[in-house]
Amino acid sequence: MSKTTRVIVVGAGIAGLAAASRLQSFGYTVTVLEGRDRIGGRIHTDRSWGVPVELGATWVHGMDGNPVMDLAQQWDLETVTTDYENLWLYDTKGVALEDDDQVELEEQFWEALDEVEELVEQMDEENEADISLQTALDIVLSKWELSAQDRRELDYAIASLIEHEYAADSADLSCYHWDEGEEFDGEDGLFPKGYDQLVTAVAKDLDIRLEHPVKAVEYQQTGVRVQCQDDTFEADYAIVTVPLGVLKAGSVTFSPALPDAKQKAIHRLGMGTLNKVVLRFPKMFWEKSAEVIGYIPKKKGEWVEFFNFYPITKQPILVGFNAGSYAQTLEDWSDEKVVAAAMQTLRTIYGAKVPNPTHHCITRWRSDPFTQGAYSFLATHATDEDYDRLAEPVGDRLFFAGEATSRQYAATVHGALLSGWREADRIHNLD
Ligand SMILES: Cc1cc2nc3c(=O)[nH]c(=O)nc-3n(C[C@H](O)[C@H](O)[C@H](O)COP(=O)(O)OP(=O)(O)OC[C@H]3O[C@@H](n4cnc5c(N)ncnc54)[C@H](O)[C@@H]3O)c2cc1C
Repeated sequence: MSKTTRVIVVGAGIAGLAAASRLQSFGYTVTVLEGRDRIGGRIHTDRSWGVPVELGATWVHGMDGNPVMDLAQQWDLETVTTDYENLWLYDTKGVALEDDDQVELEEQFWEALDEVEELVEQMDEENEADISLQTALDIVLSKWELSAQDRRELDYAIASLIEHEYAADSADLSCYHWDEGEEFDGEDGLFPKGYDQLVTAVAKDLDIRLEHPVKAVEYQQTGVRVQCQDDTFEADYAIVTVPLGVLKAGSVTFSPALPDAKQKAIHRLGMGTLNKVVLRFPKMFWEKSAEVIGYIPKKKGEWVEFFNFYPITKQPILVGFNAGSYAQTLEDWSDEKVVAAAMQTLRTIYGAKVPNPTHHCITRWRSDPFTQGAYSFLATHATDEDYDRLAEPVGDRLFFAGEATSRQYAATVHGALLSGWREADRIHNLD
């Protein structure tokens, strides 16, 4: 490698920043081109209420051996552990479920998944084509004797434990592959002073050009040309870290066109939707120590959980989560209508006297042109090899990083971080 070897990194999310900082430490000349007026991408801490509010990633999933924790230690960033099992669950009428009923519901959920696994094994033996996880669940549950309320309860568990995690309806997840991938052990944690501290630390001393949305990437044997609205940048290599949703939309063009296998992988993989409705109230009216408030709705997937951020922020803040098609529907609603829908659920649980929030903040990750969704998932007919296809370099000039290139840890901050380091090492090993 010569000192003048230049690398352009497209995107200043954690993957792009990790790649850039590692390459810079190796001695490369690195320029990061970012479309937004801020760094961090899907790590976005809003501080306008005087306390950190996470609009994108919140948790470090599995703290043992997690590279995010290594960085937290290196930069002396405070983390705290969380426990989603600290859950208060309410039925459709707003009545709290007894502990025994909660345990029974969870057991039923795991039993249903065990039966789905048996069905999938049988389908695999008979070489049957992929179907959605929802279709598989429907096949299994059609043999159970379930009342409408039993089914609502199971649907709640499916929404909360699967659809919120994968940011997709179970009707869109592959029954063969939906839960492939690995996890780090240990508890989950978060940064009480903001996830953006991690981003700021990794971005230190980098040459980052904000408000430089990349329109086109040309690559040939001798190097790359990256075109923004007003500027063109040339370099020896480029690492593209734009989200899968942006690749799907074709808002960055590649010349020559990307190989067929990569284009097919982009098409097959799913880009999910997960959104937050952050509500700040004049006072608390919910259980002070609960971490999660669960609700079994009449309609599948609507307002199934609110997270209590009082213990972290010492402010009366609740964060409602919605995923998949319902989250997408809400993106077209006005803020007032979304808040009213959230309040209807909260008033069903806590009574008509619950006050209106004084402040709200609503994410719309699907409509965001620089993300076009929340994170990737294994859609029906996709396999985890598609993540590898997305990660595959093209012509030893063009490299790809980002959560959707991480076969092991897709859809996470640590997956994105590791993918950035992976591509920096790949370029370094070429030189
Ligand atoms: C609501 C939500 C909750 C989440 N919760 C968690 C969680 O609790 N824990 C967890 O581990 N993960 C979570 N995730 C996932 C995690 O945030 C992502 O996997 C990770 O941050 C992705 O990093 P990245 O660098 O791959 O992509 P990004 O952070 O999206 O970075 C890509 C960058 O490219 C930029 N870009 C896009 N197009 C262009 C263009 N044309 N030109 C230039 N720049 C461009 C974008 O603006 C962005 O800055 C969550 C995500 C969301 C949306």
